[in-house]
Amino acid sequence: MAKLQSSLLFLFLLLLLTPTQQQQKQPQPHEAEHDDPISRFQNYLRINTAHPTPDYASAVSYLRSQAQSIGLEAQTLEFSPNKPLLLLTWRGSDPSLPSILFNSHLDSVPAEPSKWAHPPFSAVRTPDGNIFARGAQDDKCVGMQYLEAIRGLRAKNVRPIRTVHVSYVPDEEIGGFEGAAKFAASEEFRGLNVGFALDEGQASPGEEFRVFYADRSPWHVVITARGTPGHGSRLYDNSAMENLMRSVEIMSRFRESQFDVVKAGRAANSEVVSVNPVYLKAGIPSPTGFVMNMQPSEAEAGFDIRLPPTVDPDLVRKRIAEEWAPAWRNMTYKIHEKGPLRDYLGRPLMTLTDDSNPWWSVFKEAIAAVGGKLAKPEILPSTTDARYLRQLGIPVIGFSPMTNTPILLHDHNEFLKDTVYLKGIEVYESIISTLSSFQDASH
Ligand SMILES: [Zn+2]
Repeated sequence: MAKLQSSLLFLFLLLLLTPTQQQQKQPQPHEAEHDDPISRFQNYLRINTAHPTPDYASAVSYLRSQAQSIGLEAQTLEFSPNKPLLLLTWRGSDPSLPSILFNSHLDSVPAEPSKWAHPPFSAVRTPDGNIFARGAQDDKCVGMQYLEAIRGLRAKNVRPIRTVHVSYVPDEEIGGFEGAAKFAASEEFRGLNVGFALDEGQASPGEEFRVFYADRSPWHVVITARGTPGHGSRLYDNSAMENLMRSVEIMSRFRESQFDVVKAGRAANSEVVSVNPVYLKAGIPSPTGFVMNMQPSEAEAGFDIRLPPTVDPDLVRKRIAEEWAPAWRNMTYKIHEKGPLRDYLGRPLMTLTDDSNPWWSVFKEAIAAVGGKLAKPEILPSTTDARYLRQLGIPVIGFSPMTNTPILLHDHNEFLKDTVYLKGIEVYESIISTLSSFQDASH
């Protein structure tokens, strides 16, 4: 009887609660299916382009339909199977002038839904205006802002003098080798006659927009030590483990010397060479773990090394060969260079951010025109696709207009505030109209 009563009570409670729950499931007023800049951004964020199975087809088809609604020319290029690249074009009145390219990547890193306050591909907008989604900052925001800015300019009957291109490339998050690298090396790219490009940057927790004039170049370095094996009880010189550990010590000292410069405030993290051990491999496996009374004949360690363009890579190569993995200590090494270090003329991959670069001056002007302030130009600690364009000698600025925003790229609960997103559209309107009407024909 008590059971029946509680069941009835449960049913009654359920009836009371059900309408409320249904109400909660209704879209919030600001999430209704409006066709406005925010909802169009949310729609793009809802397409799951996270690795390892990015849905490039849906993303390209969505962006293509947006481009068509604005009246832009669109073409889908494919340099690797199932890795489409969308190229949009807003033709200028003087196509003989070098064009301007706005690049962003379609893909994103994976997200762990259990660690998020909102599902990472739902693009939930909270009452305080934060839009939560993987890619909200990196870098679907800029991809959509480029389009919205062009939409706005066309509505105001602005006609560019220079041609404006917008590219959406695959695979940036896994190195860009099948995306931007192939695009930059293509006949199609050469035909665009790009004079200046913008690519992604990073959020700024402060009032100033951050700008990046270079990336650091990653090297994956594996060092291997070999030596005669021996009983665990013996002391002898030049065992593999001893040699490897000596190298690890030397490399750690170098790491410390670089880090000290950062700690003393004399350089930013991205301006020094970072050396970080990422794996150690040694020992003879046994059913219970490792054989403990035997010194192995081979030992290996892997390092993630990042080089700023201001450092001579040959000096680092020499250091590896002579100090970190010297042949006289029975050591070998492999350097996997994950991208270009120098441009086609052998110059470091850096874009000038002074008045000798007229594009920089025009860019600065465009930011000032909307009341924006630029922080001191920086080297990006990691890499972007910008390096493939800089390799061709094209000046590229890394820029994602997000001020007063925590840096959440690749983090849990990545979000972007709606007002920051909308301000970014205004910033790009200024950038696109200023750059596309810049008429120094020598550039
Ligand atoms: Zn990115």
